[in-house]
Parts: sequence; structure tokens; C-alpha cells
Amino acid sequence: MNAPEFARGLPRAETPPLDASDAPTALHAPAGASIPASSSALVSASISDTFFETVDATRTTHTRRAQHDAAAPTVLFVDQSGQLGGAEFALLPLAEHHAASGEVVLLSEGPFRAKLEALGVTVRMRVDARVSGISRQSLRFGWLRALPALARQTIGLARDARRHDVVFANTQKALVLAALGKPLHRRPLIWYQHDILSGEHFGRMQLTIVKWLVRLAVDQVIANSRASAHSLVALTGCKPESIRVVHNGIDSAAFLPPRAAEADAAAAPSEADGTDVRALRERLGLPANAWIAGLFGRLAPWKGQHVALDALARLPDTHLVLVGTPLFGEQDYERQLREQAEALGIAGRVHFVGFQHDIPSWMRAMDVILHTSTSAEPFGRVVVEGMAAGRAVIAAAAGGVPEIVSHRRNGWLVTPGDVAGLVQAIETLRDDPALRQRLALAAREDARTRFSVQRYLDSMNRAIGEAARSARG
Ligand code: UDP
Repeated sequence: MNAPEFARGLPRAETPPLDASDAPTALHAPAGASIPASSSALVSASISDTFFETVDATRTTHTRRAQHDAAAPTVLFVDQSGQLGGAEFALLPLAEHHAASGEVVLLSEGPFRAKLEALGVTVRMRVDARVSGISRQSLRFGWLRALPALARQTIGLARDARRHDVVFANTQKALVLAALGKPLHRRPLIWYQHDILSGEHFGRMQLTIVKWLVRLAVDQVIANSRASAHSLVALTGCKPESIRVVHNGIDSAAFLPPRAAEADAAAAPSEADGTDVRALRERLGLPANAWIAGLFGRLAPWKGQHVALDALARLPDTHLVLVGTPLFGEQDYERQLREQAEALGIAGRVHFVGFQHDIPSWMRAMDVILHTSTSAEPFGRVVVEGMAAGRAVIAAAAGGVPEIVSHRRNGWLVTPGDVAGLVQAIETLRDDPALRQRLALAAREDARTRFSVQRYLDSMNRAIGEAARSARG
């Protein structure tokens, strides 16, 4: 084992990490606005861009795969999931950009593989049920039984890594295998951190493992939001400026109605964006004339679909469409949601439509888009997607969300879990189409300029290039 090389991790902070005392005394929202009071919202909103090396969108632009520089470093991407979650959607354009020379290793089977292959990406499967089966619950002892399989996967992955210049771990299990194998592959390791690393989501053992691997083996952490970065600073004591923050990029053009995308990308969104909402709803099997709120994302307790159901019970003329499915074994929660809708007497106004692939159409069929996570959302792709679709978004102000939404400017923020606040926000926007339209216009412009795929690729490629150069010496 090459100890010095293995031990090259992120620099540690000499000063204590940021804490809640960094928070401002109040969020900047106009008087009378629904002001989110969650401490995590305040903390994440308080981290100034100067703490982290944030993205400069205006430098050199690489285009996508077609013009991929032959001299650019080759990358091995590693992801543990076969499912289509936010982290996997974030990896798609980056893996596509590097498809000519890079590869993706997946640790589980699932629809993610087909999505990657459809983009021309080479996918290598390294699946072992014993390793995939290590869960938060079984972490304490389960990993002992999985040790031989873990060793085999680590060695196999290290062999894959040696064919490339840089290893890019996109999930936590990917980080573990890539970090354990570092003495064998000796490649710079980047970790794209998609999680808020707190006890709310992760067990103590898991957090400890991540903390030490980041300290000892990761060359560059890229966090998907300042809120995620903040949680890593708190966990590891690393220097805030050692973490890059790169927000996900969203292909805004894909969210425009087909006619507007072709003819006039500046067409006004919402009712005037050229979408024939009636026809669209008929195609999707939704009531043509109802006032409809849409909630997008996997069904999971912390995504707060139950909060939206409680709100709907107080909004007699409104319908709710739940787009998404349980991805990681939360089937009980879906059953509970259906029972809750029955018990509240709103089952006729709640539409469970399962996982959908054509998210732009589903979003454009909505009057308003809700985001109701009760725990801090690390980033929230669905929030940016709703904005790109030209719809007003009401979002729970915690985690990365306040980095995307400014209250009353490009969307509407509510306190996570506050049913009354959500009802009030929906009523306000339902009764004021001009306000809805103004928010939607600003939202669409922000999605296009601040969260573009090009900006995302530029930032990622800069980080990958720097990691490769630092390894060469
Ligand atoms: N999504 C989808 N179909 C669905 C529900 C969700 O394609 O039926 C996508 C959604 O468009 C978004 C991603 O799944 O791109 C969810 O990402 P987000 O960051 O919102 O949540 P995460 O999965 O990371 O918790």
C-alpha cells in the first residue's frame, strides 16, 4: 500500500467548521411573505459563494461529445445505482460528454444502464448482491459477511480505473470502492457529493466511513449545492474552499413546448407559451379543466407527498398529480399515501401516475409545481426542471433549494412540512395568474442561464482536468 499517496485527501480546516452561528438573522423575503424558518434553510442560505470555489460559467466552453478534446483526461465514472434518481440523471450528460474515451461502472442492474447505453456510453457491470445488499441497517455487521465480495469488487474496479486518468465516484458506495482501491489504481479520485451528510439521512457508521475516506483518499469533492458542501465541512472539518460547488445542469430547451423551442425560445411561458394544455392533458389522461398542482419525485417519506395530500384536503377545487414511484423500497409509503387520500376523501382528486419519462410534458400540463421535502433537499433537480418548464414552483426552503429559488422573484418558498403555509401559497398563486406568469418567466430565464448543461459540463471538466494535471505532478 502506498501510504503517502493514499493519505492525500482534502485539506483540513484549521478553524472550526461553519455552524449555525454563520446564519443571517432572517431570510430576505418581503413583509407578509411566507418566510421559511427551518434552521437548515438559514444555514445553507448563509454560506456565501466566497466560501467555496463556485462555478464561473463564462470561461472556455467545451461542447459536448462531438468536440471532445482527444487530449482531455479519460474518466472512469462509478455509480452504485441502477435506478434513475437525481444523481444518475446528473451523471448522464457528463458520461455522454466523455463517451468517446470514458466508461461507466455500475454496481447494480436497472434502467440507468439502458439510458447510458442509448447515449453511446460504454457501461461495465460489476454487480455483487452481497455488496449491493449492505444497507444502513446491516452496515454494522453485514459488511463482514460481504468482505470477500467487497475485496473482489474493489480489485476489479481498480483494474478498470488503471485504464483511465481520473476516477469519478458519483455515489457513496462508489466512493467506498474507489477509495479502498486507490492504493491499487493510484488515480486521482473525485467524488460528486449528492447528499446532505447528516444523521437525518445516514447512520453514524456510514457517516464515519465517508468522513475518513474523504479525509484520506479523495482528491476533489464536488458538492451539488452549498448546503451539501456545508454538511461535509461540518462532518470532516475540511476547509470550505477545498470543496467545489457545481449545481446540476438541466437541458432547458427540452422543457419548452415543441413549437416554442423551434420557433421562438423567448415565448412567454405558462398559459401563453404555446402549450395546448387541454390537448396535453387529454393525451396524459388528466382532467382538462381542473386546476392542477404537480409533485415530481420518487415516493419517499422525506419527499413529503403526505404534506401535499394534507394541503389538498383544504383546497376543494384543486387536483394533485403525483409523478414518481418508490425507488428504494418505500412501497409501504405509497400504500400509506393511497390510504391517506381515501381517509381524507380526496382520492378522486389525487392522480398517482407512477414513474414517467416525458417529464417536460407532464410539467407543462400543470398549473403549478410543488416541492414538499420535509428534510433538507441536497439540490432538487425537479425544482429547476419546473422552472425550465415555465411553471411557477412552490418549494420547501431547506438545503439546496434556497440556492435555486428566490422567494417571490422566480418562485415561492414555504417552510418544510408547513401544511397551512403550503395551502396559502397554492391559493395565492391560483388566484393571481399575473403573479404566476411573472414568477414563471423569471424562473425559466434562471433555469436557462444559471443551470445550463454547458455551465455544468464546463465546471466538471475543469475539475477533472485539474485533478488529472495534479496527479501528473
Ligand atoms: N424523475 C423522472 N420521472 C419520474 C420522477 C422523477 O424522470 O417519474 C426525475 C426528475 O425529473 C429528476 C429526478 O428524477 O430529474 C429526481 O431528481 P431530484 O434531484 O429532484 O431528486 P433525487 O432523486 O436526487 O432525490
